[in-house]
Amino acid sequence: ERLLAIETSCDETAAAVVRRDGTVESSIIHSQIDMHAEWGGVVPELASREHALWIVGVIDHALSTAGVTAADLSALAVTVGPGLPGSLAVGVSAATSLGLGWNLPVVAVNHLEGHLFSAELGEKPVEYPAVILLVSGGHCMLVHAPERGEYRLLGQTRDDSVGEAYDKIARELGLGYPGGPVLDRLAAKGDDRYAFPRPLAAQGYDFSFSGLKTAVRRRVEAGAFDLEDLAASFAAACCDVLLIKLLRAIEECGPKSAVVVGGVAASPILRNRLQAEIPPLGVELMLAPLKYATDNAAMIGAAAWWHLERGDAAGPALGIHPRLALLSAGG
Ligand code: ATP
Ligand code: MG
Ligand code: FE
Repeated sequence: ERLLAIETSCDETAAAVVRRDGTVESSIIHSQIDMHAEWGGVVPELASREHALWIVGVIDHALSTAGVTAADLSALAVTVGPGLPGSLAVGVSAATSLGLGWNLPVVAVNHLEGHLFSAELGEKPVEYPAVILLVSGGHCMLVHAPERGEYRLLGQTRDDSVGEAYDKIARELGLGYPGGPVLDRLAAKGDDRYAFPRPLAAQGYDFSFSGLKTAVRRRVEAGAFDLEDLAASFAAACCDVLLIKLLRAIEECGPKSAVVVGGVAASPILRNRLQAEIPPLGVELMLAPLKYATDNAAMIGAAAWWHLERGDAAGPALGIHPRLALLSAGG
């Protein structure tokens, strides 16, 4: 049994064929990064047009790569939010039309829950209870999951997400979009020698990255700085804060696993720090496989199978939900 999953919430047009057992038979991603890079960030109007242009080809490609046709599918899955309205609309329209045409049920998936399920696409399933750190372009949150599919929000960012801070700093430095990979490569060659703040490190689970972003900007405006050291100092500040909060949550919740997902989980610097600090605590570290850390449709398929298996009709309605939260009805 397999389903076709569709993801168009931001600037990736993606489709994947995922089996009930979690095997990914194909995962096709058309990234619009090159187009948006020219503008230093995602331009919503351009993004939706590009999705409309590519969606059919990407779906075709996903089916042919998996070597299947509509007759081999038992369901469709699609991201309904959060995301850009015009971008979401393209994926939701495609899924709704195909569902009608092929007479298949369509599972509406929360993009954030999709990210959480990306960790289930690794070599082995996540063991629960788990503490989950989601670090993406639009979100930074810590979640306690006593069981698979059950979420308790511990804390989240009060302003920018980590990915957003990376992207904004990179843009100001003229390094292009997205900022994460570029800044990370520079950081690997630098030293943490500019003393940037570790916002909200001392208490609780909430995050704040806008003050850190401002501190970096001030240092840039002060003139004469080393770019690699600046990047290294910024990355170190981000990682410190993320690790401090994650370790605090592990101490309080006593989970079997620590799960780290979202685009920033692709950062080698963050991955190395996690590898060094989490396993010695006797907690299993589950990182999103690199290719499933940033946006993709395979993770949407994995989340959809979970809901199909439980047979719950409590998920978000099939439609467009640009501001959908992780903990809204049905997750
Ligand atoms: P959300 O999922 O919150 O709606 P999104 O889908 O845009 O947002 P993702 O695709 O999960 O976010 O992640 C994109 C973010 O990840 C960008 O901010 C990008 O800079 C960051 N990123 C990607 N690769 C790296 C890396 N190697 N190091 C740090 N950050 C990275
Ligand atoms: Mg993206
Ligand atoms: Fe995302």
